Amino acid sequence: MAKMGKGTRSCRRCGSHGPVIRSYGLYICRHCFREVAASLGFKKYE
Ligand SMILES: [Zn+2]
Repeated sequence: MAKMGKGTRSCRRCGSHGPVIRSYGLYICRHCFREVAASLGFKKYE
C-alpha cells in the first residue's frame, strides 16, 4: 500500500502522480478532471 496523506499528491480517481487539481476539493489529475468536469458542469475548463 502506498503512503497516504501528508503531501502525497496522487489522483483520487486513477491514483497516478502528477499535476493534481486540488480546486473544488476534487484532488484528481487533469486527465480525470476533464472527464469528471463534464458531469459536474465545469465545461468551461477544457
Ligand atoms: Zn487521474
